[in-house]
Amino acid sequence: MGKVLIIGAGGVGTVVAHKMAELPEIFSEIMLASRTKSKCDAIAARIGCNNMVTAQVNADDVPQLVRLINSFKPDLVVNVALPYQDLTIMDACLESGVSYLDTANYEPLDEAKFEYKWQWAYREKFEKAGLTAILGCGFDPGVSGIYTAYAAKHHFDEIQYLDIVDCNAGNHGKAFATNFNPEINIREVTQKGKYWENGAWVWTEPHEIHQPLSYPRIGEKESYLIYHEELESLVINFPTLKRARFWMTFGLEYLTHLRVIQNIGMAGIVPILYEGKEIVPIQFLKAVLPKPEELGVNYTGETSIGCRIKGIKDGKEKTYYIYNNCSHEAAYAETGTQAISFTTGVPAMIGAKMFLEGKWKSPGVFNVEEFDPDPFMKDLNLYGLPWYELTDVNLEFD
Ligand code: NDP
Repeated sequence: MGKVLIIGAGGVGTVVAHKMAELPEIFSEIMLASRTKSKCDAIAARIGCNNMVTAQVNADDVPQLVRLINSFKPDLVVNVALPYQDLTIMDACLESGVSYLDTANYEPLDEAKFEYKWQWAYREKFEKAGLTAILGCGFDPGVSGIYTAYAAKHHFDEIQYLDIVDCNAGNHGKAFATNFNPEINIREVTQKGKYWENGAWVWTEPHEIHQPLSYPRIGEKESYLIYHEELESLVINFPTLKRARFWMTFGLEYLTHLRVIQNIGMAGIVPILYEGKEIVPIQFLKAVLPKPEELGVNYTGETSIGCRIKGIKDGKEKTYYIYNNCSHEAAYAETGTQAISFTTGVPAMIGAKMFLEGKWKSPGVFNVEEFDPDPFMKDLNLYGLPWYELTDVNLEFD
């Protein structure tokens, strides 16, 4: 049906490549390209399908990207490199006339700040070129927005309170490790908290607000309010929301390590001079931490991510909880990666499938909740991320 170029061969790229290779009738030709070609070759060899080729590319370099895209001529570029590359890849897509999908919004390298404004600024260019850009199509962002759209479409007349809850109750056996790119992960969880209430953003100190929440099949876990990127688009696309928050579980051991890392300056993003050479502390830290893609082998337990929503249906107050639990062991057995990469890579594959099937295809730049959630929700059940619903339950929030 279509040709797709995947850029990025980390944990998420591994899962996207595995899942696409299982559907040759949709993804008839696949190219997996990244900075380090040997990683692409290793993934392709493990998958062992005959419609996948690999290539080397520096995704910071637009002319290089354009040459690669023009030589392979894909219908869609799936960006699962790092958020720093979003704009260069979007530029290259525009130049070569190809549509685009990613799983994380743009972040400038020299500023720990993520916002959609940089990518939303491409709307007119994509519209004029007749191309589609699908932003944030992982789990969160991604499925979290699609769950919200599905709830608004089928379960409520008005959604008013949204809490996205993200629990990783897995154990990888390491004293400290991050489940996806350490640089991006540490930048995300150490920044100030922020949530939406009554038409305005409310700022908090990092990890200032927390409470225990119970997760299905897992039990109670301390959950911390953090800012997460999908809140920015969800409060615009669902203007009836009176409050929107994001919660993530952290263990005490993780938080203690994080505090020490920050206190000693290892989370810094400003280059320092070390023995005559400039190094960025957080990039050096990344080099010594366990690699996220290597955590899977000993990972046990599950993730549980969902949306807890309160609103009005037929004139009455209603509560609704939709979630997925994903086992680290099962994810590893299937793709050789842990559940965080799995829960991100599967939605990226489904988003690409939606585009190739013409179900999510429109000129412009879109967040996932702007498309019809129904075909995507159906595919989540088919391709490894089944979802469950609970109605009129205690959401554990006021
Ligand atoms: P990894 O660090 O494991 O992999 C990133 C890959 O991108 C590596 O193969 C890396 O190459 C490659 N890369 C980095 N810079 C460049 C470049 N300039 N040119 C070409 N390739 C490059 O990250 P993950 O797989 O864990 O995450 C991938 C993306 O998914 C990230 O953007 C992350 O933020 C996002 N994500 C989204 C989630 C969601 O739910 N929405 C959840 C988790 C992650 P090399 O091997 O040479 O370093």
